[in-house]
Amino acid sequence: MEIVRDTNGLRGLERCILVPTMGALHAGHAALIRLAAHHAGERSVPVVVSVFVNPTQFNEQSDFEKYPRDLDADAALAKDAGATHIFAPTVEVMYPQNAQGGEGRVPALPKVADGPMLEDHFRPGHFKGVCQVCLRLFEITNCAAALFGEKDWQQLQTIRALVTQEQLNTTIIPAPTVREWDGLAMSSRNRHLAPTDRARAVALSRALEAASTVNDIKQAERIGREVLDAAWVQTEYFAIRDAETLTGVREGRPARALVAGRVSLGAGKGDVRLIDNAPWPGFVRRV
Ligand code: AMP
Repeated sequence: MEIVRDTNGLRGLERCILVPTMGALHAGHAALIRLAAHHAGERSVPVVVSVFVNPTQFNEQSDFEKYPRDLDADAALAKDAGATHIFAPTVEVMYPQNAQGGEGRVPALPKVADGPMLEDHFRPGHFKGVCQVCLRLFEITNCAAALFGEKDWQQLQTIRALVTQEQLNTTIIPAPTVREWDGLAMSSRNRHLAPTDRARAVALSRALEAASTVNDIKQAERIGREVLDAAWVQTEYFAIRDAETLTGVREGRPARALVAGRVSLGAGKGDVRLIDNAPWPGFVRRV
């Protein structure tokens, strides 16, 4: 496996399968890379895992700075999962005209729904940064396909809308959420949780499961929030939406329960923001 640092190193990798990440790779990313390798094998093309902590998608500078970075560990995991290349650019390589991306091509935020999405309210500008980095990655790698985890459901729908809006020749392949033994969705942020915080964090997937047994939407949302309250998780949203447009649920169309919450880490230590989602109704945590 080769580590590529700039766009010159991407020559010859056209029509690759791309797995965009911010590094701090875990078993959830490994599953994504294995799925990419499976698709690549069928077409005999490279599997490129990008590792780039994108400054333009963070709401808080401190969050960006403390994001875990360990390229050696990421390279070992990616290689093991079947990657042929890691693309680990600097900010200057990604956004050459301006280190903050100010003059790079920033696409208009694609329209997933009629109004703002749930995440937009809590992370204003986040998806704009995500679209900026993904469009740049798609253009410089000229990838045939890119994989995105269902764990970030609103991101997945946004990227699908971006591909349509920009008329890109890239297929978006979704990958199922990988969970810990007790149902907690794997996330790079889980490493900030001490055992007692970790025990409370599992409430997100428990809330999704509890809500998925109730057929009335309002009641299901209430039950989801109650499970989070009982675990002292500060709920940002627990909502059931149309799975694709993320607007209100419509008869006969797939729905999705989406949750975001903060687990506080105790005096002076701040908190960890976690998100999760699942099909509604009928979700069972894999335990
Ligand atoms: P990140 O580096 O956290 O931005 O994630 C890179 C990609 O991995 C995104 O497409 C995520 O949706 C995906 N991902 C992260 N965690 C998981 C998980 N637990 N299961 C499946 N995909 C995941």
